[in-house]
Amino acid sequence: MPNPGVLARYQGLLNLPEYTRPVTLLEGDTPLIPVPRLAEDLGGGFDLLVKFEGLNPTGSFKDRGMTAAISEAAGRGVSTVICASTGNTAASAAAYASRAGMRSVVLIPQGKVAAGKLAGAVAYGAQVLQVLGSFDDALSMVVSISQKHPIALVNSLNPYRLEGQKTGAFEICDVLGSAPDWFCLPVGNAGNITSYWMGFQQYHALKGTGLPHILGVQAEGSAPLVLGHPVDHPETVATAIRIGRPARGEQALQAAEESTGRIIAVSDDEILSMQRQLAANGIWVEPASAAGLAGLARQVRSGALNLRGKRVVAVCTGHGLKDPDIITRTMRVPQVLPPELEALESAIIG
Ligand SMILES: *Cc1c(COP(=O)(O)O)cnc(C)c1O
Repeated sequence: MPNPGVLARYQGLLNLPEYTRPVTLLEGDTPLIPVPRLAEDLGGGFDLLVKFEGLNPTGSFKDRGMTAAISEAAGRGVSTVICASTGNTAASAAAYASRAGMRSVVLIPQGKVAAGKLAGAVAYGAQVLQVLGSFDDALSMVVSISQKHPIALVNSLNPYRLEGQKTGAFEICDVLGSAPDWFCLPVGNAGNITSYWMGFQQYHALKGTGLPHILGVQAEGSAPLVLGHPVDHPETVATAIRIGRPARGEQALQAAEESTGRIIAVSDDEILSMQRQLAANGIWVEPASAAGLAGLARQVRSGALNLRGKRVVAVCTGHGLKDPDIITRTMRVPQVLPPELEALESAIIG
């Protein structure tokens, strides 16, 4: 059966109001890709699969939650939606709003949004506003304005976003027949880790699919949940998780604790190195998306985690095309050849 989108596929499992009017771009049903060579590089002896969320309609997992948030808003006749965003929420909100015939307004931290995300928001027709401040500043502004005006907030403070994002956990259990032993993902505003834990718990209660240990991973320069306090000036190359005051921070800590998992931090170097390792296995993700696996690698290396005989799923949250500058900034400009066979031979054979 062709994929009908996550709301139709998991109808009845998502807590959405009766009046919800489905707005979909046929998101979800993303592949769970085995990466045996990467598992070997991390010591071997376990199964490793990547849930590649970069293959959603706007290139990130945000589409799962956005179809729910925009569908709920459409059902009650909303005409304008707003969000603060490190980029992917903006592109997703803009796409689903345009699909629904709504106006969208997105606030981004000035100069800190990757090119592919900004371009997406503009292409889908959002009004894009840059804030001279952080994501956290932008979020508090959109929360206030949505309380004052009839504008729907579609950040993950919106409970319907979490409902939609639960479907990632359902899909993993449907494909594997059960939850994995360990489950790792990057953590920014902490909506996704919260949703996955809700989803795994709900499916387990319904179908006995078991529960994973959750490994949430932040970037060292932006790790409020590891430090135990907000970070006023978060910094990391992984712009999608450059968040100092996660809206769902409490729930993220709870998910880690209840699942007997953990939340850790990794350096930007570890993140970029894992981005390269994934690309060497045919999967190009944006930097933030590599953080979960970078955390897994660190835990295995230090002996904090023994994965022998286990099954591990890593969510790679967004596509590498979102942030081309990270690659092009440091690459050598491709060699230029005259249109002659000899020149080609000498370039590739020597
Ligand atoms: C939004 C986002 C994250 C962080 O997800 P949260 O729900 O904010 O924790 C990670 N990676 C990518 C690519 C994202 O777009």
